[in-house]
Amino acid sequence: MTAEHGTAELPVAEPEQVRRAFADLLRSERSRVGVAVALRVAAAGASTAAPLLMGRMIDALAAGEGAGDVDLLAAGMAAAIAAAVALTWAAAYTANRVGERLSARLRERFVERCLRLPLHTAEQAGSGDLMTRTSVDVPESGNLIRDVLPRAAVAVLTALVYVAAMVWVNALLALCMLLAVPLIALGARWYLRRARAGYLRQARTESRSGEALSATADGARTAELHRLAQARNTIGDEAIAAHWSANRYTLYLRSIYFLTLESSYVLPAAAVLVIGGALYFDGAATLGEVASCAVLSRQVMTPLNFMLMMVERLQRGFVSFARVEGVAAADAGEPADAAATPADGTVELRGVHFAYPTGPEVLHGVDLVIPAGERLAVVGPSGAGKSTIARLVSGVDAPQRGQVLIGGVDVALLPLDERRRHVTLVTQEHHVFTATLRDNLTLAKPGATDAELAAALAAVGAAWADDLDAELGGTAKELDPAAAQQVALARIVLADPHVVILDEATAMLDPRAARDTERALAAVLKGRTVIGIAHRLHTAHDADRIAVVEAGSLAELGGHDDLLRAGGSYAQLWNTWHGAG
Ligand code: ATP
Repeated sequence: MTAEHGTAELPVAEPEQVRRAFADLLRSERSRVGVAVALRVAAAGASTAAPLLMGRMIDALAAGEGAGDVDLLAAGMAAAIAAAVALTWAAAYTANRVGERLSARLRERFVERCLRLPLHTAEQAGSGDLMTRTSVDVPESGNLIRDVLPRAAVAVLTALVYVAAMVWVNALLALCMLLAVPLIALGARWYLRRARAGYLRQARTESRSGEALSATADGARTAELHRLAQARNTIGDEAIAAHWSANRYTLYLRSIYFLTLESSYVLPAAAVLVIGGALYFDGAATLGEVASCAVLSRQVMTPLNFMLMMVERLQRGFVSFARVEGVAAADAGEPADAAATPADGTVELRGVHFAYPTGPEVLHGVDLVIPAGERLAVVGPSGAGKSTIARLVSGVDAPQRGQVLIGGVDVALLPLDERRRHVTLVTQEHHVFTATLRDNLTLAKPGATDAELAAALAAVGAAWADDLDAELGGTAKELDPAAAQQVALARIVLADPHVVILDEATAMLDPRAARDTERALAAVLKGRTVIGIAHRLHTAHDADRIAVVEAGSLAELGGHDDLLRAGGSYAQLWNTWHGAG
């Protein structure tokens, strides 16, 4: 069952975690990052040469020097411009390559972490949250690494080199640049104080409106049937209104910020001209120096402007990066005992109480021991708690009180990989990936031979599966639900865990095929502990023992014949089913 509204959104990484993760990422490409920075500094150096040489040229002309000197300076200018172009190209090329590698690494890490997310964490977060992180935050973080950050860094480096050149030409004129500082500082301070919270709210409200929309689309029929359309519309309207208001707020922040930036650029350039003019007439600066500084003061504004524009995108990028890294925090939050390894497939429930986050207690102290290798059928009325027991044994959820042990180890303490190796839950929901049949199977056992795959398919009665290279899923070949179920069961045969839980796992097959498949599976899974939750009582008949669950408690436990003799709930169920069957 999927929760309609995420009750616990996935975490967002704290600034310190973001800093550490980002530094780690950069370190992984340390030498390439170093080369890109060095090339960029060289390119900025080369592009300061042109205005400097222009100043010299003006002074040479004013001093009435010969045409040869001026020609030489002009040739120097041309060479400097050519060098600047070549170095800028090389720097951009290197930075792009590094950026692509880093963002690919980020994407791969994100996918790995999503796959490691405990199921209940993903369910509670809701599909909207993960969807927004995947479709908005991962690309935004990729942009940050590939584009925004390198360009911002380039802008800072270039601006610094230009200012250094101005100081070298005329320190007094360079001081004019300081006029821009107070306005920029005030604007940036005002903006940065509000931006992180603003963009986090924007991302959150975007997730929620996506969540509301997809829940309405998924449950459209139910909404129509129960006349919930109005209620769903209201939920959607509220989510969209919240998103709109969050967007408006960040737009307001940007509009104030950009206004202060625009006004701060004019001041220094004007000051260089006015003060430079006065210095020239006082003889404290040559005409060439004033001209060089005027050009540099304009030139410095381009990277500066760009960098300040980038602050906004940097802010947005780092918010996305924090949300992408937050998935790691969700994973790390699971307590695990790395040394824990189940001794065998014995399953034990000790005084298990459980309530879903949104509801009352549904299991009220269940005690049950299933010896390794036993086939246990769990039966009972709808809503009794059978699937909940399956989720607890497979570790999807953990009991609030009591313990679930596999091979003597608390399932809640088993590291995720270990847990997935030892216990597998198969429900009615199967996914067939858009890939070949072989790929769909080997994900359960990488490196399995074709003979193993064929044997697994035969064990689940998938007679249709004669071509391992057949493309499945998507537009290629849509498998019917029964065939998809067989693929899922064949994966279990291949994965061969200690404990298999089949929650209505053969419900899509017709009764005869279901029984045949269950018997074939039982033969293949011999020695494994199998917990089968079933509506069809032939499953119970074939099992070693039967547990009857009623209203969240264990009502009966025993073999088919014993329970029939006892004449309790099971006998009643059997007689009703048999009469009907
Ligand atoms: P069925 O045979 O119909 O599948 P079941 O015996 O498997 O029923 P469970 O699915 O375990 O019963 O449900 C036990 C109780 O827990 C029910 O009252 C159900 O409404 C509730 N429940 C199940 N899943 C959730 C969930 N994700 N959130 C809240 N309540 C839930």
